[in-house]
Amino acid sequence: MGQRQPQQLPLMLPLSNPKDIARLQRRAELAGLGSICTKVLEGERLSSDDALALYATPDYLTMGMLANHVRERIHGDLTYFNINQHINYTNVCNKLCRFCAFQRLPNQEGAYVFTPEQVAQKITEQLDQPVTEVHMVAGIYPKLPYEYYLDILRAVKSARPEIHIKAFTMIELMQIAHRAKKPLEEVLPELIEAGLGSCPGGGAEIFADRVQREGYHLKNTGQQWLDTARTVHAAGLHSNCTMLHGHIETVAERVDHLLHLRELQDETGGLQCYIPLSFHPENTEWSHLPGPTALDELREIAIGRLMLDNIPHIKAYWIMLTVPIAQLALSFGADDVDGTVVEEKIYHDAGATTPQSVARQELENWISEAGRIPVERDTLYSVVWSGDEELAPVGSAASGLG
Ligand code: SF4
Repeated sequence: MGQRQPQQLPLMLPLSNPKDIARLQRRAELAGLGSICTKVLEGERLSSDDALALYATPDYLTMGMLANHVRERIHGDLTYFNINQHINYTNVCNKLCRFCAFQRLPNQEGAYVFTPEQVAQKITEQLDQPVTEVHMVAGIYPKLPYEYYLDILRAVKSARPEIHIKAFTMIELMQIAHRAKKPLEEVLPELIEAGLGSCPGGGAEIFADRVQREGYHLKNTGQQWLDTARTVHAAGLHSNCTMLHGHIETVAERVDHLLHLRELQDETGGLQCYIPLSFHPENTEWSHLPGPTALDELREIAIGRLMLDNIPHIKAYWIMLTVPIAQLALSFGADDVDGTVVEEKIYHDAGATTPQSVARQELENWISEAGRIPVERDTLYSVVWSGDEELAPVGSAASGLG
């Protein structure tokens, strides 16, 4: 990919200007979103009916402006990224989720399991890069013993002691506890001792039982995901959260999902970032479904920002969205684009055509082109480097809710 020069574009809405705020209110009223706009301007929590109204509106730009208002109120122009590496330690899985293109059966062509030594080798290969995080998730291979999970954590730490390990989705944690034959409450301190630093947010899919039954009945239920996340947070770990959208779920089921995330965050405060994940149909059992459009993706970013008033960060995951949509998403509520990412497999098995990694400078350029200020963060949103020292928060940026 060619290097492009950063270009400062005007912001979507200079919120310090009262005339623009008044214009937004008028615009929202014309779109039938006047009461939502009032709540947004006053920092009031939106209801499930508000969420349904947002899903129903054809006025995506007004919805985006409302989300952008919240985004700028919390983060200004700051846009976070990190220098990270992905390791998917196995693609063998017995859960047979119908939306998944990554899974393989044990003897199927292309099936693999990395040994702890191979995991360490992957880390060692990137030692010349300033990687601060490894994101490690995989399929559920029932033959892997409990010790394997401890060993891969230790392997990462022995290869790069200072790296932050963000690993294991809720279904993986359930499997690890099952193999350990101990409650997760007892397993988590051992995983932390071996090097676990936080947990990702994938695998939440859609919490509704109907969708789980039809799409991934062998995987955790929504309630199990929420209970596991609650246990993770009680152990002192942060996690992210997600929603897989654009398959067989209804709008009401999406709203229900968002409300459950918001309730969990009210209770634990352990969620750092919400990432709406777009269903990619290619190579899945649901390949007949069209998948979400770019507008659907921007709408999920915007509604996520508007509804999840207690979750600090909304991520536009560039690998999944493509760079142009991720750039647009930075004016629809997103304040994070994920990271440089080395060797992404899950979305590429489902037909993603984005590169498998990107140079740090290019990531900064994309953010600057979108009129935002790039800030390198670590996994827990402490600032590593900022494109604007005056605007950069000091220390953790995770507490940026206004
Ligand atoms: S989504 Fe995860 S749990 Fe489901 S089949 Fe794919 S790898 Fe397995």
